[in-house]
Amino acid sequence: MKKQTLLQIQVKNLPEDGMPVHGGLTAADLDIPEDDRTCLPEPILLELHVTPVVGGVVSAGRAEVKIRCRCDRCLGYFTSELPPVRLDHQYPGFQGDVLDLTEDVRDDILLAFPSRCLCRAECKGLCPDCGQNLNARECDCRSEASDESPWAGLDKIRLHDGGEASEEAEK
Ligand SMILES: [Zn+2]
Ligand SMILES: [Zn+2]
Repeated sequence: MKKQTLLQIQVKNLPEDGMPVHGGLTAADLDIPEDDRTCLPEPILLELHVTPVVGGVVSAGRAEVKIRCRCDRCLGYFTSELPPVRLDHQYPGFQGDVLDLTEDVRDDILLAFPSRCLCRAECKGLCPDCGQNLNARECDCRSEASDESPWAGLDKIRLHDGGEASEEAEK
């Protein structure tokens, strides 16, 4: 794929005890999509060891990935480092001259991307009314809203419907 050759392994040149594959690859090298929500500010650092085994090839190692995300709640940008991504693959019965690890490495890295982007677990997000970033400070509409939230009314209805749930609902 494209110009990167780091992950295209010349299998017949592999020494018996394997070959280290170290280097940095960009999102474009790996065909990892970037957008306003998630992008890679720095190259992904790969540390692999590719070893010929009887009847195949084994590749093991890890990637260090830094991602820049936009928080789903407050829309603020932040950069975080993913836990090291394990990259372990076996290619039993591989016959060709060049083994291309690109797709498997990309898949593992994409799987490690967070499904939700939160700048921190307790991010308070934006006020739906005035747009104030509630991590920075509380706004006035917020405190009114929490006193007279739509759930308060719902709780009252539930109390009338089913007597036994009342104790818990009241909390
Ligand atoms: Zn946030
Ligand atoms: Zn507000």
